[in-house]
Amino acid sequence: MNNYEQFCTKFVQAVGNKEGAVSPVIMSSAAFGYGDAQTAEGIFDGSIKKPLYSRMGNPTTAKLEAIMAEMDGGVGAVATSSGMGATTLATMSLLEAGDEIISIGGLFGGTYALFDETLSRFGIKTYFFDVDELENIKNAITDKTKIIFLESVGNPNMRLPDIKAIAAIANKEGVALIVDNTITPLSISPLAIGADIVVYSTTKVIAGNASALGGCAVFRGINDGEDKFKSSRYEFMKKPIKSAGKMALIPNAKKRVLRDLGMSANANASYQTLLGLETLALRLPRIVQSVEIIAKELSKQGLKINHPCLESHPHHARYKTDFSLGCGTLFTIDMGSKENAYSFINKTKLATITANIGDSRTLALHMASTIYSDFDVATRKFLGITDGLIRISIGLENPKDIIADFLNAAQ
Ligand SMILES: *Cc1c(COP(=O)(O)O)cnc(C)c1O
Repeated sequence: MNNYEQFCTKFVQAVGNKEGAVSPVIMSSAAFGYGDAQTAEGIFDGSIKKPLYSRMGNPTTAKLEAIMAEMDGGVGAVATSSGMGATTLATMSLLEAGDEIISIGGLFGGTYALFDETLSRFGIKTYFFDVDELENIKNAITDKTKIIFLESVGNPNMRLPDIKAIAAIANKEGVALIVDNTITPLSISPLAIGADIVVYSTTKVIAGNASALGGCAVFRGINDGEDKFKSSRYEFMKKPIKSAGKMALIPNAKKRVLRDLGMSANANASYQTLLGLETLALRLPRIVQSVEIIAKELSKQGLKINHPCLESHPHHARYKTDFSLGCGTLFTIDMGSKENAYSFINKTKLATITANIGDSRTLALHMASTIYSDFDVATRKFLGITDGLIRISIGLENPKDIIADFLNAAQ
């Protein structure tokens, strides 16, 4: 049974309650009373499992975290206030000044800026590579490399990494692999193919309707015997592994980042995300199927479409083998010039013009004048941002309606 079918059952069963309120309860309190001094001590030392304070964890959010952890086969998860919060949590929990990151593929703009502009101010250096530069990636690993980071699908360049091959390098060299799986939940299971941490913007297809900003990091368990996190590269993991065993990456992330930087999820957003998650396994296969139908037809009609379902795409073979459940909601159209792109955007009647992706509605955005307007020419070129590039995120509409609308808009 594929993940879509399996999670059609699991999500609805896990989100709803069998007794009392069927819909998840929103526990929107910031603080929780402990009752007495002994209980307070126990909650703080971890021996009593009750809520401490919502920055460190909230019961509604905990429900979301448990389901997200199950979705990816992790030992636990930490939900955050945004997808960037999840990436910041996961990366900064493993980094200190002087460390290095290897970043692979065309990154989401915010992640690129985090690595290139913000973490660099704290003495962390990032080396950027294309997905297929495996030899260069291997050679770039030093004693200071703490993280290899990649996105399951290049957004918006639509390049597909060979995640297993990159995980093999990370595991051989003993470096943590973090995968941003925002675009391909259920379709790709990064922990099962060798990643250590998965991060999501749940704002996108998981919530699925622009109702809540949110993120989540899912962590694998520390192995009983050998484990890369027990090596001298991750000296700081000694303490959490001693006290939390296989769960160690979670208290490490909470104490090193969540407690002090405070990108915590709130109960209302977690509730709305749970409602979205409930139908994810039903929505995503429909969208993935529509993406193929639309991309192929528009390409046949002469539009310059970038999606790996097309035989002309350099990663078409990888798409067939490693991404058999699709690669998410996106494709791009290159209209050749900014003028043509603007004309398309202003003529489409179905697409909503916005920076979001993964919505129930079809969305469109001109890349160079919006998300990438701050980036210099060389960086845009590296990220594949041409002057006429429009990113499309397909929604739940009938694909025939979208094809007709887009063909009209392209004239
Ligand atoms: C949107 C997005 C993010 C950031 O998520 P926010 O919820 O907007 O903070 C990170 N990675 C990818 C791939 C995204 O699409």
